[in-house]
Amino acid sequence: MEKQNSQYKLYLSIVIPVYNEQENLEELFSRLKKTLDENKYSWELIFINDGSRDNSGEALIRIHNQNPQVKVLEFNRNYGQHAAVFAGFSAVEGEIVVVLDADLQNPPEEIPNLVKKIEEGFDVVSGLREKRQDSLLRKIPSFFMAKVISYATGVSMKDYGTMLRAYRRDIIENVKECQEISSYIPALANLFANKVTEINCRHDSRKGGKSKYSFYRLLKLNFDFMTGFSSIPIHLVSVLGLFVSLLGLGFGAFLGARRIIFGDQPGEQGIFTLFAILFFFVGIQIFSLGLIGEYIGRIYSEVRKRPRYFIKKKYIHK
Ligand code: UDP
Ligand code: MG
Repeated sequence: MEKQNSQYKLYLSIVIPVYNEQENLEELFSRLKKTLDENKYSWELIFINDGSRDNSGEALIRIHNQNPQVKVLEFNRNYGQHAAVFAGFSAVEGEIVVVLDADLQNPPEEIPNLVKKIEEGFDVVSGLREKRQDSLLRKIPSFFMAKVISYATGVSMKDYGTMLRAYRRDIIENVKECQEISSYIPALANLFANKVTEINCRHDSRKGGKSKYSFYRLLKLNFDFMTGFSSIPIHLVSVLGLFVSLLGLGFGAFLGARRIIFGDQPGEQGIFTLFAILFFFVGIQIFSLGLIGEYIGRIYSEVRKRPRYFIKKKYIHK
């Protein structure tokens, strides 16, 4: 099945971000190598060590030393999964690019299925996590985020949270052109893709170590997406603000009219109603401010034009 497009050196580039995954790397590599060799692809593997503080770095260099197909890019510190994947993209030489997690939640054995779909003519093939092995606290927000991202990008997908995806190389070349710092790769890639599809993929629970996403990091990622891909939130807030003001106006008019027609209402605890209304307004104001802050914060990081990451060292066989 050795298909080689003359334009590219290799058929398959696998990109894997690694942050404190020492328990998983050996098994990950051996399962990957087995699958890729069995399918007779010409392949390369690009690991990005995203500032791991455990022994992942040593393990990766060991794998690199023993395998000419393995490249390792080492960051000077932790920049996050998406920055790591971007760095991986800068080194790909294959015609098809596959991204997957290092924790074995995405079984490497699914890669040939993704590749087959690309061969059928799709630009992006995404792994749909059939029975996702994560907590409900992760699954429920993901369900809603997938709806929002589908709406914002105009490309409907059931699972936008998974990084297990295969891309045609030209999509990756387009993604690399995008210089913004806070970005969400699956949504970005779909902006450039013409034909996308999802296929069911197994999803396992994490082999070793623990998830790198705290509630706060997930929140940041979702804000990255929202502010990076649409001005919907800002519009929604404006509409909501308008609606609430009209409501307040109507209520005021109602109270005024009642007073004129029925006179004063003795004994009415109006003060509490007033407080309720006040809190409502204040809540919306704080929320709007926060949202504007989110946009401004991102504009600030874009204008600084700092590099998205800094590669300390590259391990690449010549
Ligand atoms: N990761 C990374 N940098 C980070 C956080 C995560 O490179 O700052 C990698 C991590 O090593 C793994 C993948 O991104 O390969 C997904 O991370 P994780 O499994 O913690 O996410 P979850 O499955 O909980 O969404
Ligand atoms: Mg995981």
